[in-house]
Amino acid sequence: MFVVMARTASEAEILGVKSQILAEGMTPFDHQGSERVVIAVVGEVGPRKAVLQSRLAGLPGVEEVTPISRPFKLTSREFHPEDTVIRILDAVVGDGSLTVMAGPCSVESRDQLFEAADAVAAAGATILRGGAFKPRTSPYSFQGLGVEALRYLADARERTGLPVITEVMEPNQVDIVAEYADILQIGTRNMQNYSLLTAVGRVARPIMLKRGYGATVEEWLMAAEYVVSSGNPNVILCERGIRTFETYTRNTMDLAAVPLLHHLTHLPVIVDPSHATGKRWLVKPLAIGGIAVGADGVMVEVHPRPEEALSDAEQQLTPEQFRELMASLVPVHEHVRSLHRDPVVSAAALGIGGSGGLSKH
Ligand code: PEP
Ligand code: MN
Repeated sequence: MFVVMARTASEAEILGVKSQILAEGMTPFDHQGSERVVIAVVGEVGPRKAVLQSRLAGLPGVEEVTPISRPFKLTSREFHPEDTVIRILDAVVGDGSLTVMAGPCSVESRDQLFEAADAVAAAGATILRGGAFKPRTSPYSFQGLGVEALRYLADARERTGLPVITEVMEPNQVDIVAEYADILQIGTRNMQNYSLLTAVGRVARPIMLKRGYGATVEEWLMAAEYVVSSGNPNVILCERGIRTFETYTRNTMDLAAVPLLHHLTHLPVIVDPSHATGKRWLVKPLAIGGIAVGADGVMVEVHPRPEEALSDAEQQLTPEQFRELMASLVPVHEHVRSLHRDPVVSAAALGIGGSGGLSKH
């Protein structure tokens, strides 16, 4: 449930409500909106719900106590009507600007990474990607350069000024990856690795949570809820395709998930047409599609010579193809930005109850 404080509620009254929630064995999470504070009551409430609700409603400074219908609380728009905006060095994600994460699938050498980094930076990418620890379906495939690759990524950040994103696969890698990278990526295979989600919930780095290839939107948001409830509010969601009966594409990109997520959650949403399609020539149309339905950005794989790539050779763009993609994407983004802007968002900010029509931008 949410405790909606009155606009005039004092600090002491807010503290009083939070202490009461703690005394009931639950955890309070407060959000300062533009007009008032809302406190989410998180925990296993069980049959005490009605009693707890009326007890909290009777406290000074409380305007109303509303039940939340959804299992995800802190990631929901009901709790946090304004978009979450994440700043990483000079990059901003979720503010309506176009985020473009680009770079090789795997960091293969210092030279290969620098070549890719220079090319994507010159073409307008805002964040550099590169896999250091690679989750591979086959144990015989290239597994990534590990810590050596993390060092190259940090050098590439120095060189280009772009923040870097890379995947972390295990809780015991979280500290070392956070030492070198600016954004930590959780891959599709780990979306429901709860010890990993909890571990990245404790670091001061934004997290990009890729959708599990067999996960529903609700399971995905519950995974994000693990990270946020562990203390890290800066989560970016990435639609990277789900597994269906279709085999021409590597996965099926769920474009409807983008506006749906903007309706359900305040977290930014990115699309990854590289892993979603597995085919180089499908990356551009699907990237455009993702931006057209309101995604905050794209993640695409770019390799200086894709045919020589040690992983995902079929889907990586050449630097030239990436430049072409950028030339198409920027005007599409400019055009659709205004279409997705919804005045209901600001009007209903923390109004609770008027959130039915909330959508992004
Ligand atoms: C990646 O982005 O490097 C990756 C392995 O993606 P996914 O987890 O979506 O397969
Ligand atoms: Mn890849």
